[in-house]
Amino acid sequence: MKQHYHGSCQCGKIKLTAAVQSLEMGLCHCRSCRKMNAGPVFILDAGFGKDILFEGLEHITVYSSSERMERGFCSHCGTTVYSRLVQPDFYEIPVDIFDNLPENELTISKEFFCSSQPEYYHFVEKGQRFETFPQ
Ligand SMILES: [Zn+2]
Ligand SMILES: [Zn+2]
Repeated sequence: MKQHYHGSCQCGKIKLTAAVQSLEMGLCHCRSCRKMNAGPVFILDAGFGKDILFEGLEHITVYSSSERMERGFCSHCGTTVYSRLVQPDFYEIPVDIFDNLPENELTISKEFFCSSQPEYYHFVEKGQRFETFPQ
């Protein structure tokens, strides 16, 4: 069942509400995610743009990190608040943005860009591993 969760950036100028389908997280090891988030990023599928409610949209700077992907971050505090697959306008939201998730119910379901994972970290829990991002 879809649950609505509330999130915010570090400074609080951006707030969002998203209907999260499942508490099964994706984990991305790609260089781009690691640079922008200072580490591998845990994400939840948050659905299409029309279903996400943003407050403080004027504070979001959008950066195209690849042809397929855009990232939105707070112009004040730098928090990455989403990654968006441009086609079909699908949003992935970093788990740590959310303020009211039942954190102990989260599981790692899938891991992306495992070919880019460095050897200096490992997680106890493992998801289904993909070399890149499944098409
Ligand atoms: Zn902020
Ligand atoms: Zn990534």
